[in-house]
Amino acid sequence: MTVCYLDYNATAPLRPAAKAAMIAALEVEANPSSLHRPGRAARALVEEVREAVAALVGAKPLEVLFTAGATEANNLCLAGTKAASVFASAGEHESVLAALQGTTLPLLPDGRLDLDALENLLKTAEQPVLLSLQAANNETGVVQPVAEALALVKAVGGWLHCDAVQAVGRLDPALWSEADYVSLSAHKIGGPKGVGALILRDAAPLAPLLRGGGQERRLRAGTENVAAIAGFGAAALAVAECWRAEAERTRSLRDRFEAGLRALAPDAAVFGGDAERLPNTSCFAFPGQRAETLLIKLDLAGVFVSSGSACSSGKVERSHVLTAMGIAPHLAEGALRFSFGWNSSEAEVDQALAALAGCLKRGERAVA
Ligand code: PMP
Repeated sequence: MTVCYLDYNATAPLRPAAKAAMIAALEVEANPSSLHRPGRAARALVEEVREAVAALVGAKPLEVLFTAGATEANNLCLAGTKAASVFASAGEHESVLAALQGTTLPLLPDGRLDLDALENLLKTAEQPVLLSLQAANNETGVVQPVAEALALVKAVGGWLHCDAVQAVGRLDPALWSEADYVSLSAHKIGGPKGVGALILRDAAPLAPLLRGGGQERRLRAGTENVAAIAGFGAAALAVAECWRAEAERTRSLRDRFEAGLRALAPDAAVFGGDAERLPNTSCFAFPGQRAETLLIKLDLAGVFVSSGSACSSGKVERSHVLTAMGIAPHLAEGALRFSFGWNSSEAEVDQALAALAGCLKRGERAVA
């Protein structure tokens, strides 16, 4: 059976260049903090990647702190903040919401942050403030009003943290390049899992989460995962070169998919469809169909996708993002997410649509 993987927002397949860089880096055996020649070779590799990652997001190399992924980057930023009040949108990833010691801000029905609510809260908040706002949502793909939120936060002298995990390689980095803190994850751009970065702008303050070593400007202790960092660097270089073309290609695949979806089931609800979205993401539900049932049927047909958010995989819970958008529970429980990427093809889109058609034909429109 031909299989198709359409779950790039959960993780993108490793790019061949990233795999090759990781294998080569396994030969670099020394500790990057060692002062001898092999240690300096390992250090050079890490620093080359720092430059590549910085270039990808319009930062300076010194501003890049390597972490073990974006969950750590988000935790580090929120736990290490010096802000007196902290806010986050209700649609943030769980790694932000779980680390938040502050207030969540509502989403509008289209999935975007309610800027009026932010403006009102900022008036009475104890200063300085930190706002955590993602560039784009991992479930719906909805792009957040980062520039507008930044202007409001800067007007009161606060800081903005932007989780850009899903936006890198899909949107223009200008969207988040003025943020004080930016979280990145390698495995969403075709690098390895378990490595990412927190970008820390010039004057942005931060207290470390991991202590006990001088690595990463004393802000993230621990010997660097050199092979993973090497893979991150190769993915960053690949993305820097081809992201615009890739984004346009995935947009045409996603649009082909959604046109097919509408033809198949005119009553399908596409979440966030009224807002600007990532070009690669389609999150939708068929009224009366449960996501778990569809997922299993699609899996049997060799089509691999997610229901709502796959990040805390295993358990299917109603999405907090769709809930914050005011989507009715019975519809939210049917949410499926198809996400396309660097290795996706038209043939896969067509296979996915045929599999969905099969599900609908066989599927009794069960009560959710
Ligand atoms: N933020 C967002 C928006 C994400 O989609 C994810 C991964 N699902 C994370 C943070 C966590 O990233 P990581 O897997 O690198 O810990």
